[in-house]
Amino acid sequence: MKIIDFHTHYYPDKIVEKALNKAIEFIKPVTNGTRAGLLDSMRKNNIEYSVALPMVNCPENARSLNLWASRENHDEIIMFGSVHPLEEKPEETLKYVAELGMKGIKVHPEYQNFYFADSKYDRIWRSCIENDLIVLTHTGFDVMFPPPFHCTPADIAAVIKKHPELKLVAAHCGGMRMFEDVEKHLCGKEVYFDLAFMNSMNIDMETLNRLLQRHSEDHILYGSDSPWCDQGEMVEIVHNLSISECAKEKIFYKNAQKLLKMQKN
Ligand SMILES: [Zn+2]
Repeated sequence: MKIIDFHTHYYPDKIVEKALNKAIEFIKPVTNGTRAGLLDSMRKNNIEYSVALPMVNCPENARSLNLWASRENHDEIIMFGSVHPLEEKPEETLKYVAELGMKGIKVHPEYQNFYFADSKYDRIWRSCIENDLIVLTHTGFDVMFPPPFHCTPADIAAVIKKHPELKLVAAHCGGMRMFEDVEKHLCGKEVYFDLAFMNSMNIDMETLNRLLQRHSEDHILYGSDSPWCDQGEMVEIVHNLSISECAKEKIFYKNAQKLLKMQKN
């Protein structure tokens, strides 16, 4: 089965040590955190493409981060750009991301300190629709941050209701460790879930199977969250789900191929 990993990270060689060290007291990386480390993991686990998700950490860095990202957007790595919601003119950044040829953006409401469903940011989601950019957001609990959380399943539901044309991926199966709310607010709706980090550390397999049965198999994307979770472990988990082979094929490859408008081969 061909595989696209829709949720990975790596860091520029110059800052990789600093980036990994910040998280290390909470979680241990499984690659060395570089592009080479990710490519190595992909080869080992027969993964054809990885979507890599950088994030703008402060508004002033939007341009330089997106320029870096666009240079990394080639071969087996599909690099997304990013926007900082507190930028003065986020529309300009989003237009720039699209002009640089990237297919989507990543936002992280905890790190970027904004409430995802606040109507202040409607202009950002409208601009993503105009520029045909996919939005992938961290959703739910994050081990590095205390509550209240800035993007819950109910917040995702509110945004898709207001912006039905937005191509939105709610990471971590619609809301990390908020799976009752995922079932209540998101299952069956027009929103993608990625499976990043959905191993036994964060979800039990009974709950994962139940969520996947209640959500459309056309809206689920294999993802790992590498280097924070092993790509091979997440491949194994998807193979062991109680769903059809046809659904697995969609989750591993076909849904991502369609969403990213990749050529069929
Ligand atoms: Zn992630």
